[in-house]
Amino acid sequence: MSLDIQAIRAQFPILEQQVHGKPLVYLDNAATTQKPLAVINALDEYYRLDNSNVHRGAHTLADRATQKFEHGRQVVQRFLNAPAPELVLWSRGTTESINMVAQSYGRTFLQKGDVILVSAMEHHANIVPWQMLCEEKGCILKPIPVKPNGELDMAAFDALLDGSVKFVSVVHVSNALGTVNPVAEIIQKAHAVGAKVLVDGAQAVAHFPVDVQALDCDFYVFSAHKVFGPTGLGVLYGKRELLNAMPPYQGGGEMIAKVSFAGTTYNELPYKFEAGTPHIAGVIGLAAGLEYFMSLDRIALAQHEDELLQYAMQKARAIEGITLIGEAPKKAGVMSFLMAGAHPSDVGMLLDQQGIAVRTGHHCAMPIMDQLCIPGTVRASFSIYSTKADVDALIAGLEKVKMFL
Ligand code: PMP
Repeated sequence: MSLDIQAIRAQFPILEQQVHGKPLVYLDNAATTQKPLAVINALDEYYRLDNSNVHRGAHTLADRATQKFEHGRQVVQRFLNAPAPELVLWSRGTTESINMVAQSYGRTFLQKGDVILVSAMEHHANIVPWQMLCEEKGCILKPIPVKPNGELDMAAFDALLDGSVKFVSVVHVSNALGTVNPVAEIIQKAHAVGAKVLVDGAQAVAHFPVDVQALDCDFYVFSAHKVFGPTGLGVLYGKRELLNAMPPYQGGGEMIAKVSFAGTTYNELPYKFEAGTPHIAGVIGLAAGLEYFMSLDRIALAQHEDELLQYAMQKARAIEGITLIGEAPKKAGVMSFLMAGAHPSDVGMLLDQQGIAVRTGHHCAMPIMDQLCIPGTVRASFSIYSTKADVDALIAGLEKVKMFL
């Protein structure tokens, strides 16, 4: 399969617009990716033709909606190489998936004094749910240190690992720095001391193929909206024995087998964890997006994105006054930087005036910003439709910003 980025761009109609009279250069893909026609059309078709509630209906529309909805689970199963579709659970996003594990697995199986490890580069979504659990249960949350270049300190991880560590929750790719963490090694080492591992794949799944069976992770989570799907939908993959042992996260319709005032029994997987009407359209949209994404040459796309990132970093380094934040040897999708004499939010605003969309601030990763003694960064983040021309526009835009200083 050859890679035709212009043909890919043509599938994303939002990219064709002008902002402040300039062609849009969308470099905020770590916050959310744009949606291809496959997703837009699937949502349109669902609401025009199939809209109905799933599972309980005794009519044709309900059957169609249910079939499409459950097909979505199979698509995600294939996307993650999960062993079975019922191990793919729906949530509202990465944030809710992590909260589900912290609340359901954590409250049941973690005890006072148990150590939970997260990395120092986590998104708040992979810190705060564990802090809440620690407050309630008396567990101890410890950060795995990060080196000044943004790389996880694996020697420090080894030193932290002992029999008291019962859970490790790490980000696959950092949204603030772009660091790709050695999650396979982390999982193998954590398992050796008897700890379970959750991988936050929010920033990983759009950049390279993920195989949860090869990784042997206990839980893997991501958000649909960061991999070309709709907002308000997330995935929690978990190993069967763990999901079976875990209590429901929420009570309500769909998650029960039988309800009576004498007592209630719960449904089987995956429904045990899916109380209430789910985000049906979201699942159908995500499935269409992932089918489109999986029809592309993903290895070639990962290579294209890597070349783009290297090109952008090399160009940015050449601009006087720009400091790259996060230069780990393995990175994906994200270039964070600072410009001397300019606050990141001013840089963002001046780039926006030129039609260039980036993100500025702490990127919901305050601890790593504190460690690096910076208030935040400017972040340019790439996706499958990003081009060298986008990078050139960013670099020219930054040169212009410098003239305002
Ligand atoms: N983890 C990481 C690494 C992220 O990048 C994000 C989103 N910025 C989240 C978690 C939270 O995702 P969501 O807001 O979609 O729940």
